[in-house]
Amino acid sequence: MISIDLRSDTVTRPTDDMRAAMLQARVGDDVYGEDPSINALEERVADWLGKPAALLCSSGTQSNLLGILSHCQRGEEYIVGAPYHTYKYEAGGAAVLGGIVPQTVPVESDGSVDVRQIEAVIKADDPHFPISRLIALENTHLGQVIPQNTMRETRQLADSYGLSLHLDGARLANAHIASGLSMSELAAPFDSVSVCCSKGLGAPVGSLLCGNEDLIKRARRWRKMLGGGMRQAGILAAAIDYALDHNVQRLQTDHHHAQLLAAGLSGCPHIRVGGTPTNMLYVVFAQPQQAEFVAEVLAGNGIRVPASQRMRLVTHLDISQADIAYVLERFYQAVAQMPQ
Ligand SMILES: *Cc1c(COP(=O)(O)O)cnc(C)c1O
Repeated sequence: MISIDLRSDTVTRPTDDMRAAMLQARVGDDVYGEDPSINALEERVADWLGKPAALLCSSGTQSNLLGILSHCQRGEEYIVGAPYHTYKYEAGGAAVLGGIVPQTVPVESDGSVDVRQIEAVIKADDPHFPISRLIALENTHLGQVIPQNTMRETRQLADSYGLSLHLDGARLANAHIASGLSMSELAAPFDSVSVCCSKGLGAPVGSLLCGNEDLIKRARRWRKMLGGGMRQAGILAAAIDYALDHNVQRLQTDHHHAQLLAAGLSGCPHIRVGGTPTNMLYVVFAQPQQAEFVAEVLAGNGIRVPASQRMRLVTHLDISQADIAYVLERFYQAVAQMPQ
């Protein structure tokens, strides 16, 4: 039974070797700070990103939320790209739980936010306004690597207004592999960075928030308050350690597969294809019914894709080069049969 899931890189399953590493994990009670595997992992990831401290969180949403809650008080605002995850895909958590106001700004076609757009919404000190406190950016965004010079410009802007800077780096490891910049170079302009280990890195659970000791101390309190304090979670730390040992460099294979798929599909009539430098590509159909038709035909051939007119395809650990060839063959067949 063929099963090729291109909907997301979150669908990867822990391999036998990763599970074996989990079995060996030394554990303790992490709420007491006594889980040796978690303590070592937090230190490892903090070093990797060039930050003083890190905190293991249950998800990227939790890690971003703890970051925003730790930077901002009630009645303060974070400035964020309108399509970014920390605004659009986290159920409004910062507003619901923190009384923190999101101020959105438009995002450019390369996924970055122009610093002038940010500067235009920074509020004066006036009792009518929320207090501008934080800028929240994202890298990668829709598979695109954000140019590092715009990150540095945003740092300068933040400094001149006394704002903090958070990065949602759910897929920062993909940006690292695609750009050749180190994780710490990519993280350098930011006060806090969230990275996910359950996407392309292939761990079953876990994101880490990185920043200075004070920020991580506040985040640890928020995590406890939100019910995110974990006990013998060293089992999860062992899976993430395994992922960091084995699954970072291999992201270049995922990027190569995405590029093969984009190049192969670019010759297909009736669709438009947009590639990225990382593990995502987009297939755009003229009509939504065509996307639904193609998704259904592919599902019948063991290939899962989203049934959306702008169809995102994501490569990952469980997709081989042979899978790419098979997907290309079936995609062409499905498109040839779709309603015009
Ligand atoms: C997946 C993702 C997250 C975190 O999502 P969780 O499902 O909560 O782990 C955050 N930001 C971006 C850009 C993401 O793609």
